[in-house]
Formats: sequence, structure tokens, C-alpha cells
Amino acid sequence: MASADPIDIFEASPTELGIVWSDGHRSVYTLHHLRTLCPCASCNDLRAKFGPLLINKETIRLKGLEPVGRYALQFLWSDGHQTGIYGWEFLRYVCPCEECAKRAAAK
Ligand SMILES: [Zn+2]
Ligand SMILES: [Zn+2]
Repeated sequence: MASADPIDIFEASPTELGIVWSDGHRSVYTLHHLRTLCPCASCNDLRAKFGPLLINKETIRLKGLEPVGRYALQFLWSDGHQTGIYGWEFLRYVCPCEECAKRAAAK
């Protein structure tokens, strides 16, 4: 898969994060969706043991984003969780738009 880099990362709404990619693609994620997908070791562990993470949709917010090298973002969540490093490839992979969902389903 060709890798694209974000050229813009923006707050699409108080509960959504948007990314514009270098290939022109545009992704809008709900924060709740991204939080439940947190790729850190402890969340992976919780999901393996208990299934999908139970995150409060109403209250989860983003407190900040920290760049990690040139390949990822660290998400600082309002619930105090901040060990998740979201790589570009991962973020693009979980893009919830129709086009990407189709591509994922075709695989
Ligand atoms: Zn996590
Ligand atoms: Zn997409």
C-alpha cells in the first residue's frame, strides 16, 4: 500500500478529528472511534481479554496531539490515557469513509 502523509490535521468538530492526506484523501474520524481503537499495549491487552473498549461517547475528548517523529501522532485523551501512538498507516487504514470501507471489504 502506498503510504501517504498528513498535510493537515484539524478539529472537524468538538467530537471529530480530520486529516487531509498528501494524496488528496480526506478522513474524518470520530474521537470515540479513535479512542476505542487505541493501539497501545495496554489497550490491546484489554481488548484481547474483554473485547471492545468501553469508552464514554459523550465525554471523550482530545486534550492534545504530540507528533512522534515523522510517522505518527500521540493522542492525549480527556480520560487521562495517552500511551497510544497512532501511525500514519494505521490512521489511514482505519479511515471510516465509504471509499476506504469499500477497499477494506474488497480485500
Ligand atoms: Zn491505549
Ligand atoms: Zn477514507
